[in-house]
Amino acid sequence: MITELEPVSVEPVSEPATRNAAIMERALGLFPGGVNSPVRAFRSVGRPPLALEAGDGPRVRDADGHWYLDYIGAWGPAILGHAHPAVVEAVCDAALDGFAFGATSPREVVLGEAIRAAVPSMEKLRFTSSGTEAAMSALRLARGATGRDLVLKFAGGYHGHADGVLVEAGSGLATLAMPGSAGVPAAIAATTVVVPINDLAAVRAAFERHPGLIAAVIVEPVAANVGVIPPAPGFLEGLRELTTVHGALLVFDEVITGFRVARGGAQARYGVRPDLTVLGKIVGGGMPIGAYGGSHALMALVAPDGPVYQAGTLSGHPLSMAAGAATLARLDDAAYARLEAAGARLEAGLRAAADDGGRTVGIARVGSLLTVFFRDGAPTTTDEALASDRAAYARFFGAMLDEGVLLPPSQFEAWFLSTTHDDAVIDATIAAARTAFAA
Ligand code: PMP
Repeated sequence: MITELEPVSVEPVSEPATRNAAIMERALGLFPGGVNSPVRAFRSVGRPPLALEAGDGPRVRDADGHWYLDYIGAWGPAILGHAHPAVVEAVCDAALDGFAFGATSPREVVLGEAIRAAVPSMEKLRFTSSGTEAAMSALRLARGATGRDLVLKFAGGYHGHADGVLVEAGSGLATLAMPGSAGVPAAIAATTVVVPINDLAAVRAAFERHPGLIAAVIVEPVAANVGVIPPAPGFLEGLRELTTVHGALLVFDEVITGFRVARGGAQARYGVRPDLTVLGKIVGGGMPIGAYGGSHALMALVAPDGPVYQAGTLSGHPLSMAAGAATLARLDDAAYARLEAAGARLEAGLRAAADDGGRTVGIARVGSLLTVFFRDGAPTTTDEALASDRAAYARFFGAMLDEGVLLPPSQFEAWFLSTTHDDAVIDATIAAARTAFAA
């Protein structure tokens, strides 16, 4: 928490009007774009970025003391709302015991067992400190297990910022209209095969083009990094079949969908069992985390049991374990019923508000994940999503912010609801949207 503003070392040209502006000015001198992750810079919505310093349930507070109804939700982890008392207490208790020990701690066992009970395909797992590391490690394991080098991903799929998966990726790259990243060696990019989402024929063709060479297909089972695109009927089942036929592993990147679209993730919601699962976000309750896992046989290949190396100084961090376990303990059937109802209420209200305002939008929703696309109808492909009217979204974002509602600062990110988004919060959001659509 920033409580004190040190004097700015370089004289500003003019005195910033607000504390938020003063903090962001100093941040700009420190961090590229003033941020430590690109989408936070608000570049695609044409607004000055907010410095947020507190959260309480469904609300966040900026550095000037303004409260907003929050739909960023820490980009997914805040499924119980911000600063849930039980999570705060669990973290404080853990902190009193000391931070990290560099050895297995009981809290890792507690969270690991809770995850395995909910996601049975993860017979064994390994904790990391971020989703990026977990996805990277799962793909290394897939290559180690199959002896193959290629990985198939989908256009617009985001699997963290490791070299090989920064090819036609979503999230910040979609927001900034970047096809990939500088600094990725061509030889590494060439190990990634990219095909359109929801296109089984393209997956089949890729397997035929690269016989015996594809180690894994990695997929967000509900695409959520170009906005929300649900899987087409039969798509995930088709991936299961094609990977099995061609001896490749099916990797579900459930960093967003895990414990979000169902307690057991998308694999439970859609009834398709992957070989490897990647988790992050919710399982850390807002603290840094990632996890990957699969069958006993596959995980036996991970060091020290096997030849696939992967490690981490802060992996299984006690505070992350404590926050995660406290969060998962509160995600029961009633919580998912509430999340589903809140999502449905918001979707219906937004549709009515857009209709009444004479706006053409497409709304995609899976449970408590939702995107309002400024185009005619919800997209089924990444290209359709990317063709949305970004300028219209930017205006909508600004109008909602003026009404006290903080949306993701990009057309291509999901809105995240929490169990604290009750009827009053949802109805206030719909009322704001009525004003915003009309404006
Ligand atoms: N996979 C998916 C599907 C994600 O959405 C993200 C992050 N938004 C990641 C991987 C990477 O996780 P992290 O930011 O924790 O490295």
